[in-house]
Amino acid sequence: MEKPNIIPWICPRCGEETTDFPALSRRDNKTEICSKCGTEEAMIDFFLSEGGEK
Ligand SMILES: [Zn+2]
Repeated sequence: MEKPNIIPWICPRCGEETTDFPALSRRDNKTEICSKCGTEEAMIDFFLSEGGEK
């Protein structure tokens, strides 16, 4: 099976080189970040909203 042409790119949030499909930052909705950072921001939002609700 042929691999698709994946171009490594640098995530501006953590500065790490990645081949992940970029996720849109929840901070400004235009910065593309790695999936790891995307998950991290989602987690932060989740915990922040949880703490704010109760
Ligand atoms: Zn990152």
